[in-house]
Amino acid sequence: MSQYKVFIDTACVNCKANSILGSRVYEYLERNDHHIEKSVKDADVIIINTCGFNAFHQNMSENLIKDYCSAKKPGSKLISIGCLNKIDQEVITSIYPDTILISELNELDEIFASQVPFANLTGAALTDERIDQIYISKNRYYDWTDSICLSIGKFLYLAAHFHPGMQLKIKQVLDEAYKKNKFFVEISQGCLSQCSYCVIKRAKGQLRSRPIDHILQDIKRLYDPGKNLCLVAEDCGCYGLDKKTNLFTLMDRVKQIYPDLGVDLCYLNPLWVEKYFNEYIELFKNHKINSVNLSIQSGSDKIIQAMNRKYSVDTVRSFIDEIRTVSPQTLIWTHIIIGFPTETFLDFLKTLNILSAYDISYKFYYDEKKGTPSARLSPKVPRHIKAIWNVLYRLKEIQIYIVRFFSMLFGRVRS
Ligand code: SF4
Ligand code: SF4
Repeated sequence: MSQYKVFIDTACVNCKANSILGSRVYEYLERNDHHIEKSVKDADVIIINTCGFNAFHQNMSENLIKDYCSAKKPGSKLISIGCLNKIDQEVITSIYPDTILISELNELDEIFASQVPFANLTGAALTDERIDQIYISKNRYYDWTDSICLSIGKFLYLAAHFHPGMQLKIKQVLDEAYKKNKFFVEISQGCLSQCSYCVIKRAKGQLRSRPIDHILQDIKRLYDPGKNLCLVAEDCGCYGLDKKTNLFTLMDRVKQIYPDLGVDLCYLNPLWVEKYFNEYIELFKNHKINSVNLSIQSGSDKIIQAMNRKYSVDTVRSFIDEIRTVSPQTLIWTHIIIGFPTETFLDFLKTLNILSAYDISYKFYYDEKKGTPSARLSPKVPRHIKAIWNVLYRLKEIQIYIVRFFSMLFGRVRS
């Protein structure tokens, strides 16, 4: 078996499914005695973990392919893995026609003539070393406003040493941003929804849940008492519905074996909260849930409907209020889409209004994906309006953090 020098990079830093994919490839290469290279110039094989979620991530993927094509040594192979291969592979081959496109990771077995086949790996630990390696160009990903927010977060963490509750929340935010103190287990791929803007389904397809026993085996292998378990899925809420089980059963089985293990739910479509409100409150009451991504996407019911997402802002808000009571340590976060077609300034103000219910939010600009139902909606929000809204969004975030900091500070002084 030949040993290759392999360089890996990824186009999407925030996506846990993508992180797991990168980490599994890393583990596979290590198990087959290949060398992970830090420099693209020395690599025999370059693997790019692509994403096609929106224009930003697609551009990141394209730029990585362009840059590594020009930097690579003659004769080295370039392999593309990840979602863009399924969402729009022509984009990749138009840049470098010789790119090897992988749709399932076991296709790597033939390329590397591997002794340990891909099928023999189950989960993969996402260690700090791996994070540094599989996100080698992560600095391209963050803009200066992200850097400012992260710096403020670090400052607040140090400043909040007198207030353990507040410091814990800031630590959770920083752990989330840097993927620290967690181990990741994928529980399913695909989902049961049809969000009008989504291209992820083209890459991930219909729901395919992993058997509970396989998930438990992964947890056993990766378990670290100092870390939280991050359950990764396009939508944890639909876990098991294709296998006559569900998330509640999975959580109970995990708790039976690891009663003190903190769990991250990444992601939970609020439609399940709309359907099973009380059951979810019980879940948060009876389990140690460290964080949940309960992505509302917009603070306007009109826009949520246009996104073909099935919940109301009021339900999500009441649910968050309940979680604050039954599970105050849980970090609740969301994704927000700015500039969805038909969104007005009033809709956007409603989104700003819901932000304070969450501990943190990550925003994306809406951009059009060919063939999605939302591409047919109009009027569109012009680019310069989205840019102005982005500034307002950032100002709102800063205002929220400052208000929170001082209200906790004065709460502490009063007590
Ligand atoms: S398309 Fe979605 S699931 Fe795929 S890598 Fe990008 S963000 Fe992750
Ligand atoms: S829940 Fe919606 S946004 Fe998420 S993967 Fe499914 S269809 Fe796409």
